[in-house]
Amino acid sequence: MSGKALVSERGAVLLGDSVACDAFDEARPLRVVTHAHADHLIGLRQSLRSGKKVLMTRATRDLVDVMNGQHTLTKGHLEMLDYGETVVCGDERVTLAKADHILGAAQVLVEDANGSRVAYTGDFKLDGTEPLLDCDVLVVEATYGSPSFKRSFKLDVKELLVSMVEKRLRHGTVYVFGYHGKLQEIMQILHRADVTVPFVMPERVFRVSKVCEAHGMRLGCLAISTDNEGKELLDGNLPCVAFYHMNSRQSVGLVGSSRICVSGWEFRSPCRQIGEREHLVALSDHSDFNGLIEYVRRCKPKQVVTDNYRVRHGATLAREISKRLGIPAVAMPR
Ligand SMILES: [Zn+2]
Repeated sequence: MSGKALVSERGAVLLGDSVACDAFDEARPLRVVTHAHADHLIGLRQSLRSGKKVLMTRATRDLVDVMNGQHTLTKGHLEMLDYGETVVCGDERVTLAKADHILGAAQVLVEDANGSRVAYTGDFKLDGTEPLLDCDVLVVEATYGSPSFKRSFKLDVKELLVSMVEKRLRHGTVYVFGYHGKLQEIMQILHRADVTVPFVMPERVFRVSKVCEAHGMRLGCLAISTDNEGKELLDGNLPCVAFYHMNSRQSVGLVGSSRICVSGWEFRSPCRQIGEREHLVALSDHSDFNGLIEYVRRCKPKQVVTDNYRVRHGATLAREISKRLGIPAVAMPR
């Protein structure tokens, strides 16, 4: 397997000679942050302190600012790149390409003077992601890397979510629990479907939402849960949608309200009842197993490395890629 791309024991996706993505690596001058989720920000302070440059999209910078606190990115040499823009380091060219995941998410392509191409998908959903083509080595995320992780639902999950929310709003507040990025995607889905009630949320979710709006997403009428308007709506169980991070699931909206948890870890049905007034909806911002295989099939890489650091399905995915597509694949770290 080529040493041109690998995943280190500490979760850094190493591309070519100069790039470390999504975790710190002391030997690499360029650090790329593919998106603002915590498992892709490993050792960011160290990278800012001792690396030559840290690269990310402007939207990712803004999200890291609100999700991690503004002090994170004040020190060090930070450079914002648009999709399609290139940075040169030695004889290598680093380019970011859009990944459909959360706002600002990027794939990373590194090319050298000999025409070698190595790439990393970052986290992605196939729908809105244009695969990077003809790579010598492709590093692919492996969140849903096992063949049992397939979402072949006949129902449109977004339509289902909208109708569930609309129906439950007749009885008062609907609580929606999910992760940053996903919550804003749901706001956008509801807003597009003309769900016009206020969207109420704690301050951090509100600030992430404002970043999404500043970067072009349309989310509807937003209110903070601790402000007067938000408090009145929630205390009175009035018709509004309350958006909370998954971590708050055990502590808010427990009495009398409808609750919807949105998760990618659901494969049996698009919607399942999990409590008296609580449902789980299968909406994911990652490709399922079929999407991962399809990405690799379209990319036609000579070799594949699966990211076995973040979720432990890399070995299964590598085996399936070799078997189904005939492309040599290994999981890293082992
Ligand atoms: Zn992610």
